[in-house]
Amino acid sequence: MNAAERIFKCTFCCDTFKHKYDWSRHEKSLHLNMEEWICAPHGASVVLPLTGRVHCAYCSALDPTPEHLQQHNHLAHNVTDSTPRVFRRKDHLVQHLRLVHGLDTLPLIDDWKIESMPVVSRCGFCNMTLNSWDERKDHLAAHFREGKTMANWRGDHGFDPAVAARLTHAFPPYLLAHQATTLVPFSATDPASMDHTKQLLSQINSMTMAESTNQSEPNTDQGQENVISEAVPLATQHELDTFVLANVLTRHLSRFARQQMLAGIIPTDEMFQRESRRILYQNGDDEWNQTVADDPSWLQEFKEQTGFGGVSNS
Ligand SMILES: [Zn+2]
Ligand SMILES: [Zn+2]
Ligand SMILES: [Zn+2]
Ligand SMILES: [Zn+2]
Repeated sequence: MNAAERIFKCTFCCDTFKHKYDWSRHEKSLHLNMEEWICAPHGASVVLPLTGRVHCAYCSALDPTPEHLQQHNHLAHNVTDSTPRVFRRKDHLVQHLRLVHGLDTLPLIDDWKIESMPVVSRCGFCNMTLNSWDERKDHLAAHFREGKTMANWRGDHGFDPAVAARLTHAFPPYLLAHQATTLVPFSATDPASMDHTKQLLSQINSMTMAESTNQSEPNTDQGQENVISEAVPLATQHELDTFVLANVLTRHLSRFARQQMLAGIIPTDEMFQRESRRILYQNGDDEWNQTVADDPSWLQEFKEQTGFGGVSNS
């Protein structure tokens, strides 16, 4: 298919789409699934509108007795709080119905789904606040039809922390245009790309861990706060597991900048670029190894976000 036709761009990975529907479904199912599935949300005995009579929620039997419901292990949820009742995915609820309630034939569970919370975000093309996922979908689609690409996107998604915590396989949106030009572009639908990214992430993480451990020798300097020696991992396990690359490099570079400034050195653009090459390619000197820090607008944004602005060799 002609790449030019694929105008709808995933804002979390490098995948592109010809149709708005496919694009929107991809973003939602692969990157930000806000659905929740609840086991028997209306109780074990439900009145079916069709018959006006009481049925068992698990097997649709008429007028279920307490003994009948107990055959489905209905009290499992009351007995112990450790039995989860809310699931992020439909297949997890189905598995629960099989294992906990012993069902072979599944009841109708289409209305056991809830959309948990409204997703507020920002548009990276015009900075407008978008108050729901539907609004976001239509708004961004209009920009894509105007010819906008991820190269025009500025800043992050602007999700609330609770929403951001549910992101999976997400690359920072302002890095995607650059990322799409790399040898192995980040794609949530390409297993090879996922492997590559996972390796890269844990590599960066262990390098940073090793370096911050080396530096945590006892600090005899009394008054000075020893800010550089905290052995905080660069990426949390959650970020590694879900490949949320958001700001892993940013965090590394801001730590690098802090170390330099404590040593009395004001880092230049070139130093940031060298350090990015070193951490991503284990070789800071080979300028063929391009990183996002070679992109002037990325570097500018980084410096603004981290407060290392005002430092420029230009
Ligand atoms: Zn994607
Ligand atoms: Zn249940
Ligand atoms: Zn039943
Ligand atoms: Zn906009």
